[in-house]
Amino acid sequence: MWDFDVLVVGSGPGGQKAAIAAAKLERRVAVVERRNMIGGVCINTGTIPSKTLREAVLHLTGLNQRGMYGQSYRVKDEITAADLGIRTQHVVGREVDVIRSQLSRNHVALLHGLGHFVDPHTVAVVDDKGQELKVTAEKIIIATGTKPARPASVEFDEHTIIDSDGILHLRDVPDSMVVVGAGVIGIEYASMFAALGTKVTVVERRERMLDFCDLEIVEALKYHLRDLAVTFWFGETVAAVEKRSRGALTVLESGKKIPAETVMYSAGREGMTGALALENAGLVADGRGRIGVDEHYRTAAEHIYAVGDVIGFPSLAATSMEQGRIAAHHACGEPLPGIHHLQPIGIYTIPEISFIGRTEEDLTHSHVPFEVGIARYRELARGQIIGDTYGMLKLLVSPESRALLGVHVFGTGATELLHIGQAVMGCGGTVDYLVDAVFNYPTLAESYKVAALDAANKLRRVARFEL
Ligand SMILES: Cc1cc2nc3c(=O)[nH]c(=O)nc-3n(C[C@H](O)[C@H](O)[C@H](O)COP(=O)(O)OP(=O)(O)OC[C@H]3O[C@@H](n4cnc5c(N)ncnc54)[C@H](O)[C@@H]3O)c2cc1C
Repeated sequence: MWDFDVLVVGSGPGGQKAAIAAAKLERRVAVVERRNMIGGVCINTGTIPSKTLREAVLHLTGLNQRGMYGQSYRVKDEITAADLGIRTQHVVGREVDVIRSQLSRNHVALLHGLGHFVDPHTVAVVDDKGQELKVTAEKIIIATGTKPARPASVEFDEHTIIDSDGILHLRDVPDSMVVVGAGVIGIEYASMFAALGTKVTVVERRERMLDFCDLEIVEALKYHLRDLAVTFWFGETVAAVEKRSRGALTVLESGKKIPAETVMYSAGREGMTGALALENAGLVADGRGRIGVDEHYRTAAEHIYAVGDVIGFPSLAATSMEQGRIAAHHACGEPLPGIHHLQPIGIYTIPEISFIGRTEEDLTHSHVPFEVGIARYRELARGQIIGDTYGMLKLLVSPESRALLGVHVFGTGATELLHIGQAVMGCGGTVDYLVDAVFNYPTLAESYKVAALDAANKLRRVARFEL
């Protein structure tokens, strides 16, 4: 007899949803997690703090209202780290309460501590006082997430040279900042600090950033960030970061030197598998600490599953949740169809980006013909009302089936608006549905109709030329 039917290691989005799903299927479930990390990276150091910080930045700087009230508009002149932090602590606290309550309502036991395998069915949980509890389970789901990768050559000190976790503990809003790595996390924080008035320099080894996104939208983002005084160095590698009394000097391999009060490294993340003693369960992680799984999220050991960031791409909270739910159902003998092929991407830069489906580059590369329909927020009444004159929505439409192949949004509300396109695509709708649909007026959602009309008109023109 096992202590639990399902044991989940890690309480981030993947672990939580796996535990709740197994509990709903009437299994005896426990979650292993450190006392101060309920909710995982998502709630404590990643998604929720960064998005709350972003909201505080937008509110206090009045950035989004400057289109209406002029470039000098500010809600608060001197924005401090404390101003930014207050809201974050509140939101994180409330979210942790919600998760605790959900787990307890569903009778999921919470075992405080770090877990490691003793054998394939036994996990030892060691709490912060060193006390060890051994528990056995029929099925085990690993949802231990990731931590920031720290190059050995860089001396992190939590104040001057930091990673994305360190951002949350900054005592002041720095005058200048170097962001190493223009991935999603790096560029989100770069845009937030630029909005606060910090002079940001982004250093990226590759020639492009966010290369999985629509090129035109990334160009629009770069234009906006440059307008906020962000400097980009693409195709540049950091040779050294030297600590100085007034900050740090970032030295590039090309010989350039960039002085800044703070340097934030955002050079990828690695799987939190080092403490799991995977070898005792017959498992191995790859060089970046990631665990390999099959389509049911099963590892090489049939009864052990892995979900969320610890299995790698796409490393998003929403995807991790769904993986957790699917893995739990499979582990409980009630498998689900699997993850939907349409996965939305949301990037909370200022301004934000969201897309679903394919990009122009990808379609062109695969020789799939498409037509483009564009709506610009400045042509929408709602865009004028809210002062967003740069936003845009782009539809990629198949000339043959008239189906939507991709939806790309840039500007206010992009991450919310996208889901209209997702619903149409997911239900097999065509551009004609959007042409015929009546949208509330004045809304940003109306951009779907404007873009659909644009695409439909272009398709009609091509058809007329072909006669
Ligand atoms: C700065 C930042 C911003 C982000 N913004 C977004 C965003 O806007 N949208 C989005 O979708 N995603 C975002 N993400 C990604 C998102 O946070 C992750 O995809 C998500 O948290 C992954 O969930 P997970 O279930 O894999 O576990 P995680 O949230 O990574 O949590 C894993 C948990 O496992 C615990 N754990 C690890 N090892 C053990 C062990 N041995 N024993 C017990 N417990 C253990 C850890 O303490 C941790 O609490 C962001 C990430 C970062 C860092």
